[in-house]
Amino acid sequence: MTSHKSIIRRPSRQVRVGHVAVGGGAPVVVQSMTNTDTADVTATVQQVYELWQAGSELVRITVNNVDAARAVPAIRERLDAMGCNVPLIGDFHFNGHKLLAAVPECGQALAKLRINPGNVGRGAKRDEQFAQLIEFAIRHDKPVRIGVNWGSLDPELLARMMDENARAAHPIEADAVMRHAVVASTLESAARAEELGLPGDRIILSCKLSGVQDLIWVYRQLAARCDYALHLGLTEAGMGSKGIVASTAALAVLLQEGIGDTIRVSLTPRPDEPRTLEVQVAQEILQVMGIRAFTPLVTACPGCGRTTSTYFQALAHRIQTWLRGQMPEWRGRYPGVEEMTVAVMGCVVNGPGESRHANVGISLPGTGETPVAPVYVDGEKTVTLKGERIAEEFQAIVQAYVERKYGGHSTGG
Ligand code: SF4
Repeated sequence: MTSHKSIIRRPSRQVRVGHVAVGGGAPVVVQSMTNTDTADVTATVQQVYELWQAGSELVRITVNNVDAARAVPAIRERLDAMGCNVPLIGDFHFNGHKLLAAVPECGQALAKLRINPGNVGRGAKRDEQFAQLIEFAIRHDKPVRIGVNWGSLDPELLARMMDENARAAHPIEADAVMRHAVVASTLESAARAEELGLPGDRIILSCKLSGVQDLIWVYRQLAARCDYALHLGLTEAGMGSKGIVASTAALAVLLQEGIGDTIRVSLTPRPDEPRTLEVQVAQEILQVMGIRAFTPLVTACPGCGRTTSTYFQALAHRIQTWLRGQMPEWRGRYPGVEEMTVAVMGCVVNGPGESRHANVGISLPGTGETPVAPVYVDGEKTVTLKGERIAEEFQAIVQAYVERKYGGHSTGG
C-alpha cells in the first residue's frame, strides 16, 4: 500500500540505516526500543528478535556503560546467526564519547548512533564531546539521530533563550520559549554536526515531547525549517489506552501532514503486556491511516443489545490474534496478504453488508435470528456455518483464501 493519496509526504533527505532507507520518499519506518539490560546479551537478543518478528524494522538498545558497549558486538553476531538482520541503534547519553572510544567495535556493530545534545556534556566539554561522537560517526560511516528531549533540554541554551525573551519588547510565555528552545537545540546541533563534516544525509532529527499539542507545534516547525529526515514519537506517552491514544493523536496529525519518516510509539507496557505492543500500535496507526499495510486487520462491530453472547467478540479476537501470529511466516510466503480485511460481525443489521466489503467476512446470529453464520468471500455468500465449530471452520476458510489468493506469487505462478 502506498501512502493514501490525500497525504503528500514532506520532501526529506534519505538516510540509510543499515539496509533500511529512512526519508526521501521511503515508506514510513517502524522502530522500537528494548527495555532489557543491554549487558545481558541473551535477554537483549531475545527481545530484539521478538520486536523484529513483530515487524520492527529498526531496534534501539541503550548503551549506558562499558559492559553494555562490550555486549553490542555479541548481540549483533547472535542476531545474525538467528537470521535476524534488523539494524541496531545505540542510544548514548552522558558518556557516549568515552564508550565509543573505549569499545569502538560497539559503534561498528551499530547501524546508527542516537545522541541527545542535552546530555552530551556541559560548557566547553559539551562541544568537545559532541564533536567526538560526530567524528566517530564520520570515521565509521554511521548515521546519527540527533534526538532532543524536552526532559533533558540543554540548560545553557534554555537559560540563554529565557534571558533573551525576558529582555524582548513582547516576551512570550515560558512554555513557548521552551518549545522554541527544543527546535533551536535540534537545528543548531544538526548544523554543528554538518560543520564537523557529517553529511546531511547521515542525520535524522527528533524532538520528543510528552504533550500532544507541543509535539505537533515543534514538528511543524522542524518540517518547515529543514529537510532532514524526521523521527517521530511522543515521549513518555504512558500506559494502556492513554499511551495509545496520546501517541495516535499526535502522530496522526503529523503523518496526515506528511511529516515523519520513521515512528516509534513510546508505551509503558503493563507487567502483563509484551514489549511488542509498541510495534503493533505503530503499525496500526500507519495502517488505519492508509499509509502502509502490515497485517490483515479484522473489522468488527462493537456489539450491542442485539448480540446474543460474547461469542462474536471472542471470535473477532481469536481471528485477529491468529492473523497477527501468522505474519512472520506469511510475510514472505503470501505477498500482499497484509492488505486483506476480515469482517466479524455480530448480527444481520450490518453483518452481511460489512462482510461483503471485506475479503472474507462472517455475520454471526443476533437475538432472535436463526442460529447460523453466513460467510462471504470476495462479496459473495459462500457457506453458512452452524454448531460448535464455527471458529475453527471460519479460520480454515480464511487460511484457504490466503493460500488461493496470495500463494501464487511466491512460486511465480
Ligand atoms: S452489527 Fe448488529 S450486533 Fe453489531 S453493533 Fe450492529 S446491530 Fe449490534
